[in-house]
Amino acid sequence: MTQPVPVPFSGRWGAATDTGAVRRHNEDAFLAAPPLFLVADGMGGHAAGDIAASLVVGTFAQLVDRPCVTEDDLLQGVRRGRLAIVEFFAPSELSGGTTLSGIGVSSQDGVPSVAVVNIGDSRTYRLRDGVLEQLTKDHSTVQELVDSGAIAPSEARTHPHRNIITRAISSVGDSEPDVRSIPVQVGDRYLACTDGLTGELTDDQIRDVLASVEDPQAAASQLVAHALSVRGRDNITAVVVDVAHLADGDLPVPPWQHATTAPDVDDSFDDTLPTRPRT
Ligand code: MN
Repeated sequence: MTQPVPVPFSGRWGAATDTGAVRRHNEDAFLAAPPLFLVADGMGGHAAGDIAASLVVGTFAQLVDRPCVTEDDLLQGVRRGRLAIVEFFAPSELSGGTTLSGIGVSSQDGVPSVAVVNIGDSRTYRLRDGVLEQLTKDHSTVQELVDSGAIAPSEARTHPHRNIITRAISSVGDSEPDVRSIPVQVGDRYLACTDGLTGELTDDQIRDVLASVEDPQAAASQLVAHALSVRGRDNITAVVVDVAHLADGDLPVPPWQHATTAPDVDDSFDDTLPTRPRT
């Protein structure tokens, strides 16, 4: 018998998604269930993007209710997700793909950590001591232009090529995700989001919501509502995770909690929304 693995840390989470004001379908998907907090932004014609994102999230759902995951679990999950996409689309002329970004609850050499995964242009951020830091690097043409100095970071959000990504989980190509582990602290807040959020809100605007809205479900809902109130051109998804307890010796941490009540949501956003078609 192997010893049961303890949960390295626990806390609370919330998640929100919206089709946005322009698109007819929501091709974003998310998994918010310990030990995994992931977003996926599907792409492809017809319903292909929707299916691709759901297939990948579905393969990761097999790991839910484990106490923690490793970097290798995330790498294997991406490979299994790609296989699921290849198998699904092989008989058809459709092709689909998806981004993936987020965190897994992890333990690196006994230190409570997040295993951060990213492929594509969805993002994972950390708010620590009031400072927002982007933990992932976009796999996109625009990011390459920023890296080469061809454009300024401030130009990236409005660049005409901002939607072109250089890596994805798809039936064409076999690009790998970035995966790394970072120790967590009590009070850390993590955000996984799709480009429908970061395309509408600056990092400063994201930071202001994350720093001021205490409840993680309310924070996720307000981020999505804020992006909708700007323009909401794309599907928008946000998953917010708060670290509240670290494992200490043999003492178990309290269970993870989904913050289902959202008393802090500012409904006034609805008053300023443009009329948007719903299907
Ligand atoms: Mn998107």
